[in-house]
Amino acid sequence: MAVVSLALIPGDGIGVEVMESAKQILDAVQATYDVTFTMTELDWSCERYHRTGAMMPADGLDVLGRHDAILLGAVGWPGVPDHVSLWGLLIPIRRTFGQYVNLRPMRVFEGVPTPVRPELSAGTDFVVVRENSEGEYSEVGGRIGRGSSEVALQQSTFSRVAVERIAEYAMTTAESRRGHVRSATKSNGIIHTMTLWDEVVDDVAVRHPDVTMSREHVDAMAARMVMHPSDFDVVVASNLLGDILSDLAAAVCGSIGIAPSANLAPDGPGPSMFEPVHGSAPDIAGKGLANPIGMLWSVVLMLEHLRLQEPAAALMSAIEESLRDPRTRTADLGGTASTGEVTEFVAALLLKER
Ligand code: ATP
Ligand code: MG
Repeated sequence: MAVVSLALIPGDGIGVEVMESAKQILDAVQATYDVTFTMTELDWSCERYHRTGAMMPADGLDVLGRHDAILLGAVGWPGVPDHVSLWGLLIPIRRTFGQYVNLRPMRVFEGVPTPVRPELSAGTDFVVVRENSEGEYSEVGGRIGRGSSEVALQQSTFSRVAVERIAEYAMTTAESRRGHVRSATKSNGIIHTMTLWDEVVDDVAVRHPDVTMSREHVDAMAARMVMHPSDFDVVVASNLLGDILSDLAAAVCGSIGIAPSANLAPDGPGPSMFEPVHGSAPDIAGKGLANPIGMLWSVVLMLEHLRLQEPAAALMSAIEESLRDPRTRTADLGGTASTGEVTEFVAALLLKER
């Protein structure tokens, strides 16, 4: 019997609601399959920040480091600046544990309406591999001058080692899929960092002769994603470009409420973290409207990562089943079900496997 230790961080707003769904599903998994989860629930949130002045305790990273995986709802709330939840929680976790891959799978599901014409979006199934450790998101920079002469400078960092490992991850991922990588860049305008990115990605592609790699400017790629989303297999992009492209992809696939993500630490030293792409959604929090599928698909990614293939596959087919019918999906997808009703439906399908 496998015993797996999980750190759960519900966070804020609908993060708390979708974490309740995840716990119910993890209970159904351990009732059905040969695995036991030990779960440590952590109240790290904007509410905690208001109470104590910090998103997480001083030994927070040590606590997380003792677990096999981390599951996160969403952090952020009006009144707390975004950089507090980002730099006070998410970025320290990603960087300390070596989570240099941000993996975001996208699919158009049978029955789910999408804003793109059905004949163009049918069969859409791709992953965005986003560089998660450096790039445009940096603390280096500052503001100089005052008033109308004020200038802000922000330094981005692209290191050969970081570009190489993310490109390598993307190519390897493509080898287990349909063998096509599109690399997003803007090296005509951003002439130092992005040209290094292009060179390194080209070098890595040479080591993967079975993968077709194309480099594309991010503006053209964004247009292609809307016009022809089924052209994509694996997208690899820098921290900022990957962030934008994966939110766009989530919208093309129907709703940000179904999009999952994994922050993977392929070489350690710490655990990987799994979280839905969406935020805390204050506008719908506390109303039972939150779509739990982004979270539950993130649980699928976590189970796959923990090599629990059988429950991962069963949960994924239960998700597909729930999305097929408006009565078992939430309002953001034109359905009528509440968060709890979708969860009940998915949990019942898992328990039926027993
Ligand atoms: P953050 O800054 O944390 O990303 P945000 O407010 O910018 O937060 P989201 O919280 O992702 O972004 O919400 C964006 C929009 O998508 C909101 O209108 C929200 O209601 C909707 N939304 C987000 N997640 C879900 C979900 N799981 N189910 C239904 N609607 C959602
Ligand atoms: Mg947002």
